[in-house]
Amino acid sequence: MKKLAFALLVLGIGSCSPQPSENNQLQIVCTTGMLADMTAALTEGLDSINLISLMGPGTDPHLYKASQEDVFALSRADLIIYNGLHLEGKMQDLFEKLPSERVYAAGTVIPKSERINVSAFEAAYDPHIWFDLQLWSKVSAGLAKKLDSLMPESKEIIHKNAIKYQKNLDSLHQWALNAFGEVPEKQRVLITAHDAFKYFGRAYGLEVRGLQGISTTAEFGIRDISDLANFIVEAEIKAIFIESSVSPRAIEAVQEAVIRKGGELQIGGELYSDALGPKESEANHFFGMFQHNVKTIQGALL
Ligand SMILES: [Zn+2]
Repeated sequence: MKKLAFALLVLGIGSCSPQPSENNQLQIVCTTGMLADMTAALTEGLDSINLISLMGPGTDPHLYKASQEDVFALSRADLIIYNGLHLEGKMQDLFEKLPSERVYAAGTVIPKSERINVSAFEAAYDPHIWFDLQLWSKVSAGLAKKLDSLMPESKEIIHKNAIKYQKNLDSLHQWALNAFGEVPEKQRVLITAHDAFKYFGRAYGLEVRGLQGISTTAEFGIRDISDLANFIVEAEIKAIFIESSVSPRAIEAVQEAVIRKGGELQIGGELYSDALGPKESEANHFFGMFQHNVKTIQGALL
C-alpha cells in the first residue's frame, strides 16, 4: 500500500481536477470487463470518450491489485466506474483516496432489500450482481444517469442506448428463465468453486453451492470438500463446474472425492464468473458471457 500511496502522491491524485487529454476525450476507467461492456453500450456512437478496462479475461477481481500503469490511468480519469460491494477488495483504499465526484460505485444503486446479505452478523453484501439481469438493468439505469451528469450534451444518445441495452437484458433474462424451466426441478443445482452465482440462482431458480465463500480469498478445507462430496452423492448431482478466474484445483478435488465415495460426477464445463472471456471466445462481451454460462449449465444439468 505504501508504494501505491507514493505513486498517487507523485501523480497528484486528489489534488486537483483531471487534466483534459490531448484530444479532449473524456477518460473513463472501468474496473471489470462487465462494467466496461455496459459503459461501451451506453456511450455507443459518442466519440468524445476514451474507455479503459482494467481487468482483462481470467482476472480475479477479489485479488486484483492496481499496477503502476493502472494508477496512472486512474489518476487521469474523469470518471472511474467500479462494481463496489467489496468486489474489488484490494482496490478499496485506493478508491477512497480519490475525489469522490470522480469515483462511481455502480452496484450501490441496487436497493439493500434486493441485495443478498452473506453475513448473519452485519451488512455484507454479495457483489456478483451482474448475474441477475434485472438487477444489472438497474445498474445500467444508475450508470446512465451518472454519465448524463458527466456529458449533459449527450443525454439523448445515452438515454436511447440505455433503453436498447435494457431491452436486450430483458430478452436475455426471459431466455434464461425458459432454458432452466426445461431442467427437471431436482436437477437444478449449481456447484462451483466460489460463491459467485447466488444472484444467478435466486433469479433463475437454481440451488447454488460454492466451495469457497463469496470472495476467492476465503480458504476451504478437506472437511468442506468431503461435505460437498457427500451432498453430491446423496442428491445424485450429475455435474459441477470450473470457473475461468478461479483455479480448477478445488473442483477437481471434489470430483475425486465423489468418485472415491462411489459416485459419478462430470466436470460440466468452464463458466465465466468474475471476468469476461478471452477475445477469441463467445464470452468476450457481457451478453455472450451470460449466454455461455446458461448454455453450459443447462446442458450439463439436463
Ligand atoms: Zn467472485
